[in-house]
Amino acid sequence: MKRLLLLGGGHAHVQVLADLARQPLPGWEVHLVSPYRRQIYSGMLPGWIAGDYRIEDCAIAIDRLAASAAVRFHETAGAGVDPGAAIVRCVDGSTLGYDALSIDTGPTPALDDLPGAAEQALPVRPIETFIAAWPALVERIRAANRRFDLLVLGAGAAGVELAFAIRHRAGVEGWSQLAVTLAGADERPMAGAPDAARRRAWRLLTERGIAWRGGCRATRIDADRVHVAGAESLPFDACIVATGAAAPRWPAAAGLATDERGCIRVAATLQSVSNPNVFAAGDVAAYADPRPKSGVYAVRAGPVLAANLRAFCLGQAALQRWTPQTEALYLINTGDRHAIAMRGRWSCSGHWVWRWKDRIDRRFMRRFGTPA
Ligand SMILES: Cc1cc2nc3c(=O)[nH]c(=O)nc-3n(C[C@H](O)[C@H](O)[C@H](O)COP(=O)(O)OP(=O)(O)OC[C@H]3O[C@@H](n4cnc5c(N)ncnc54)[C@H](O)[C@@H]3O)c2cc1C
Repeated sequence: MKRLLLLGGGHAHVQVLADLARQPLPGWEVHLVSPYRRQIYSGMLPGWIAGDYRIEDCAIAIDRLAASAAVRFHETAGAGVDPGAAIVRCVDGSTLGYDALSIDTGPTPALDDLPGAAEQALPVRPIETFIAAWPALVERIRAANRRFDLLVLGAGAAGVELAFAIRHRAGVEGWSQLAVTLAGADERPMAGAPDAARRRAWRLLTERGIAWRGGCRATRIDADRVHVAGAESLPFDACIVATGAAAPRWPAAAGLATDERGCIRVAATLQSVSNPNVFAAGDVAAYADPRPKSGVYAVRAGPVLAANLRAFCLGQAALQRWTPQTEALYLINTGDRHAIAMRGRWSCSGHWVWRWKDRIDRRFMRRFGTPA
């Protein structure tokens, strides 16, 4: 029996598992390595913070999905790959050989340039660590008998969504002592988004009582403040860091071809350009036709990855070429069951956009069976 090893249960791999559940891969045993038994759908995470969803609504039970596909599940994380020996070393000390390897392990938090971030603040990634830490933060907010300053550092889509979600939750729960501040490096939140959407988000922050600190490039985090280049430091009682994502170090260390950030360079077929029996998709991959790191593209890569893994394993010559769409639809949850939609230079917002996003997200989750 040959072995296909799936490393990580990310947004593309859940679709590979669903594909294998529909149709087995004759002559191959398939293994999945993941540190968690569930995969959190990050698009719904702010909705969980806001109180719109239970965590089970946002989680795919990848262990059960694997079982339904006769895929053997290993609850551990990959620590390194040796493409020469065709083995993956795991953090629990085990090693797993492979004939074909597919990697969808997502990003790691970009904390290297921000001393103190890991020790003094709560990074939004790994998402499971953030989820585990959230109840204690809620307790601290509830127990505060004076103003409690919560600083969300990083004003990309994730930081913006989290600030709005927390503000909304505060209103629902009556956390009147909570003051939420969102800080970002640019003058307006959501760099790279259409101007109209950025202005809308900025106006909404004010309307919802979220303080905005633009032009803040954080240099260090202490126990009670974020130091900012050329400006006054930002004091906090608690700080959530959503300053972006980086690549893990192990793909480059393994000698796989990577881009300058350390993401695995793949051809249009999602095969590593250096090792054709290694595939990658999601934020850990550097696509032939580069696209922003986002869940949208990780999801879109899923069906092509599933088809190409099958074709490769079955020795079929023709693999599909994936051309990611140039413009993706982004739906940003702004709390209060309201959202901003944007695609290319177009954007709009409203409660109906939230309902649209809710339908899309729930439909995606229904494809993967019962909640975790
Ligand atoms: C709060 C928040 C909101 C967001 N909202 C959106 C949104 O609305 N739209 C959007 O497009 N993007 C959004 N994003 C970005 C999105 O989360 C990522 O782009 C997306 O998760 C990338 O998917 P992925 O499959 O590459 O990785 P992930 O979703 O991170 O999945 C990787 C999986 O691999 C596992 N793993 C990690 N390391 C290892 C290892 N060494 N070995 C084995 N397994 C491992 C992880 O536990 C995880 O299960 C959001 C991000 C955050 C933080």
